[in-house]
Formats: sequence, structure tokens, C-alpha cells
Amino acid sequence: MYKFKMQEIDKPRSNCAIFGIYNHPEASVMTYYVLHAQQHRGQEGSGICTSEYLPDKAKYRFNIHKGHGIALEVFSDQNILTGILKGNAAIGHNRYSTTGASDSRSNIQPFKVNFKNGFLALSHNGNFTNTKELRESLQDEGTIFQTTTDSEILLHLIARSKEKEMRDKILEACRKVRGAYSIVLLADDKLFAIKDPYAVRPLSMGKLGNSFVFASETSAFDIINAEYIRDLDAGEIVEIDKEVIQSGKEKSYSIAKTSETKHCIFEYVYFSRPDSTIFNNTVDKVRRKLGKNLSIEKPAPIAAVEDKKVIVISVPDSSNTATLGFLTESIKTNPYIKLELALIRSHYIGRTFIQPGQDKREIKVKAKFNTVKSVLKDRIVVIVDDSIVRGTTAKNLVKLVREAGPKEIHLRITSPPITSPCHYGMDFPSKNELIANQCSNDLEKIREYLGADSVEYLSNEKLHDSVPQGVNSAGQKIGYCDACFSGYYPIPIEEIEKTEFDK
Ligand code: SF4
Repeated sequence: MYKFKMQEIDKPRSNCAIFGIYNHPEASVMTYYVLHAQQHRGQEGSGICTSEYLPDKAKYRFNIHKGHGIALEVFSDQNILTGILKGNAAIGHNRYSTTGASDSRSNIQPFKVNFKNGFLALSHNGNFTNTKELRESLQDEGTIFQTTTDSEILLHLIARSKEKEMRDKILEACRKVRGAYSIVLLADDKLFAIKDPYAVRPLSMGKLGNSFVFASETSAFDIINAEYIRDLDAGEIVEIDKEVIQSGKEKSYSIAKTSETKHCIFEYVYFSRPDSTIFNNTVDKVRRKLGKNLSIEKPAPIAAVEDKKVIVISVPDSSNTATLGFLTESIKTNPYIKLELALIRSHYIGRTFIQPGQDKREIKVKAKFNTVKSVLKDRIVVIVDDSIVRGTTAKNLVKLVREAGPKEIHLRITSPPITSPCHYGMDFPSKNELIANQCSNDLEKIREYLGADSVEYLSNEKLHDSVPQGVNSAGQKIGYCDACFSGYYPIPIEEIEKTEFDK
């Protein structure tokens, strides 16, 4: 029997969600709730590590529990949270693999080490891009690796540093790694939150009473009633310790100054939840603008303008917000155009699905979506979606909608064609599996493959017009990585054969 993961339904996958909390009597329980709220960023594995002070021994103990699956499965036994994961500080992690074998339990984070200065535990979102070079040099010096992930490298670099203060060890280590990284790092009596100098991945800081919290997305704060304070600056390390709790003001250090950020533009298109604030801006607002700009640039076909039978539908849940933006703009030229809920998504499919038949792809789509046939019949249907990767899901979605008997089907995509893989922490299929490359970027070939009456993408120019611009509070120009659309990688990458670490 073939077993597949529902999240492999032809979307790039965010590789991780991270969370850190300091000074809370139920640190592990708070972490558990937040991991649940950030489950969309990783479903292969989940873990929590806590720092517990043992007064009788006058030292700290790190408690850890992690496993394959979603947080709900990994922490199904309540005793794990209340009986094992004791302590006032915790970090957590939801994982997809982008480096390291996905089926190896040792690759599930947080990672914990014990070195001469005490314990260290780390949760990482992103990818280092000079992994091979650093790994080889550490191995030459006798370092033995426990995992095949890039994240472990940072722990070794910190542990080997000759600096005295923990923050200086971390600063030294971070200055050696290159790439995209948002990290929470737990030391015995401190919590650090770290963002790379280009701020590729989001990482926000919040407060919950006298506790400090850090999370990949702010929607995670809402579930525990934490107050959002700000996103970390590019290249910033924030340190939280007992002094900070008393003063209420975090300590902040800089790894390096860059003149321009390179935020992942795909976070706005697809990865982050619309109820989150990332890079100090709300995702909902940007996503509506993506839909609006798509409607202006690539409207419903001329024949459909002023036709009373035109309906716009989203592919729930990821394109819901952009579809509202598309509709609001489209109504200006066709007052009869209507929004319909024609695709119904099943929310009750587990993380894995046993598939007994032959046509795996079709069943994947049908297990996740069904159509409201009466809504689609005889209509001109405009499907708004956020991205097309391999094209397999889009093709089967079009087929599914076609079965309901519409007059025409027009696909509108709120991002440009994906032509290159991500080296900064998102999991994409290989270059030659991408539908845009398979069809040599020929729109007519893509349309033919997908079986739609028309297919149009938002241009890269309009994509950039849709996201916040200007200068941030640190004086940096707000810039974006769009490498998966443009092929231009703003941070140098080494040629890593993914399979090399996937053994
Ligand atoms: S290549 Fe850049 S824009 Fe695309 S997913 Fe990766 S970081 Fe984001």
C-alpha cells in the first residue's frame, strides 16, 4: 500500500515553525498550543525542550520530548507536558525536512547538547547555505555529528567558541554561517532569538504578562493571548534573562548590518497565515492586494466581462483572502460577477492517507476537495489560486470542476510561474518537475496540460508592487527574495546535492 502525506498536495512546503518562551510556569503547555497554531508550517515532526532549575542540585536540567507527526499526536499523553516537560522556559519546533533525512527521528528538533558551559537547545527555521564547507571543516577538527541537518552545525560552532559570554559565543557562530535562519536557542538560564542579516524568514517577539515569547508567526501569539511587540530586525540577536524580566526591556545585539533585507516574498503569497503579521505587516492586507493586482493585470477574459454567469471561486483555504481582493477589483468592470463557495475542503483528513487505488493524484485531490455542482453548472468559472508547482493538483482541480458542467474555466494565479528551487528553507520539487519548466514557460502549453480555458499568472513586477516597500525602522531598504520566480539568489549558495545529506 502506498502511503502519502496530504501536505504533499503539490505546494511548496514551509520547513518549520519555531517558538520560544521564557519565565512562564506552564512554558511547555503554552509551547504545545503554539505548535498547534503553527501546524501549517510543519507536520512531519514536533518537539519541545524545557529548561528546569533543580534547587537541591543548584543546576539546570533540560527535558525534551519529540516525535514524528503533528503536535496533537506527539503530545497526546498529557503527562508529557505536565509531568516530564517541567521548567519555566521552553522552545518548540514543527518540522518539515529540507535538509536531513525526513524519516530519521534524530533530525526532529529541538536539538539538545550538553557542553562545558551547560545545556543548549535549538529550534531553527531556514537553511544555511555554506553547510558543506562548515561541516567538512568541523569534521576535520574531530566533530562528530548526531544528525544530518544543517541546524546542528550552529550548536557545534557555539560549543567550540572560546568566548566567555554565551551571547558572544552565539554572535561568533552566527557570523560563520550564511543563509536564511530564524532561531530560538535555549541556554540554562537564558533564551535567545536570532534572525539572519537578510531577515529572510519571519520571527516575532511578544509578551505574555511577565513572560517573553518568540514565534514564526503572530497568529501563534493569539492562541495564548500574548501581545505582539515587533518583528526582530535583520541580523538581530535578542537575549532574555532574569535581568530582562525585571527591567522589562530585552537585550539586543547585531550579527551584521546589511543595507537591504531579503524577506521571502512567498511568505506573503502562501506560507504565512492571513491572520498573522510578518515582517511588521499584516498578511491579509498584502494577500488582498495580490488578488486586486491580479484582477487589474490579468482580469477575467473579455468574453466574460458583464456576463451574468461569471463566478469567482477560491481554492480553500490558502487562496481565500486573495480571491476577495480579486473579486473587489473585478466588480468594478463587471457588477454581476459573484463570489461563490464551490470548492469544499475536507478538514478531517489525517496527516497520512492510505490510498488503495491506481490514480493516486486524482484521489489526493478528491480526498481534499469536493465541488458544489449546482453552483458551477453552466457558469464561467474563474479559479483564483496562489501558486502552481508541479501542476498536478491544478490539473486535477480543473478536472474536478469540469465534471460539474461549467461553460468555461479560467485559472488566475497570484504569483509568477515557479521556475527555480528554494535554497533558503522551503521545500520545492526539483527544477525539472516544475510545470513552468516542463512547458518551457509557454503559457499555452501550461494551459493545455492543465485543461483550463485560460491560465494567467501575476507578473513578477506586480508581485513586488503588492508587497510593502520603503525603509524599515532599522534604516534598511525593504527588499525581497524572489529566487523561485526569478532564479536570482540574493544570498550566495553552495552547490549542495540534497541527496548527499538525505542518506
Ligand atoms: S526562493 Fe526566496 S522567495 Fe522563494 S520560497 Fe525561497 S526564500 Fe521564499
